[in-house]
Amino acid sequence: MPDRTPYLAANWKMHKTVAEAADFVDALLPKIGATRNDVVICPPFLALGEVVSRTRGSAIKIAAQNMHEAESGAFTGEVSAPMLLDAGVHAVVLGHSERRQYFGETDESLARKVPVALAAGLEPILCIGESEEARDAGQTESVLERQLQADLAEVDPALLADVVIAYEPIWAIGTGRTASPEQAQEAVAFVRDVLRAQEAEAERVRVLYGGSVKPANAAELMAQPDIDGALVGGASLEPDDFAAIVEAA
Ligand code: PEP
Repeated sequence: MPDRTPYLAANWKMHKTVAEAADFVDALLPKIGATRNDVVICPPFLALGEVVSRTRGSAIKIAAQNMHEAESGAFTGEVSAPMLLDAGVHAVVLGHSERRQYFGETDESLARKVPVALAAGLEPILCIGESEEARDAGQTESVLERQLQADLAEVDPALLADVVIAYEPIWAIGTGRTASPEQAQEAVAFVRDVLRAQEAEAERVRVLYGGSVKPANAAELMAQPDIDGALVGGASLEPDDFAAIVEAA
């Protein structure tokens, strides 16, 4: 069984001004100074520069929340991989369910974005997950398998271990309804089975759970054998809460 370093990512979504982001980092750093886990903050684009410079030399790495697949061009409102790298960004969240639901993100565009991010040297954090209707209809596994196969279709198998997967059931995001540890483990183990069928390196892929993770439920979720960490939304906005989740992993 390969060693997979626990990975904790704070997805701030559309929260925090530059000043608020700076205050958060200053409060968080002393609380997690001793961690050996991978800790990633995903601020809004405008706060990336500030958070990159405040965390320089620390264990914290920075991710963007989205990226366009082209290097540059007439794509108003978009940001490219070279621009993120130039800003000191380490990773990029791709395919978050809010991007899929509200901004038309498709599996086809993700199939282009994931290899572009990898080729540029950015770590993709690829989000997948089923809706409540799909779960109720017994389609969780078929949805996850379809998303994984489509979104990773163009990834060089040798680079698969550099992708981080976040299993985020849509019904658990921002709802306070966490998947039970057993439900999360079952889905994440299935994700690993699908990856294993594609490439032996799958054992090294970090697979996270996301969906209403809080200090009170983090330890139990992350104690599951296949869950390697968490993508945290609401509870990542307070330094004490996020530090407690980092500690629980
Ligand atoms: C998320 O933003 O990916 C998320 C899981 O949000 P929350 O923790 O608020 O459910």
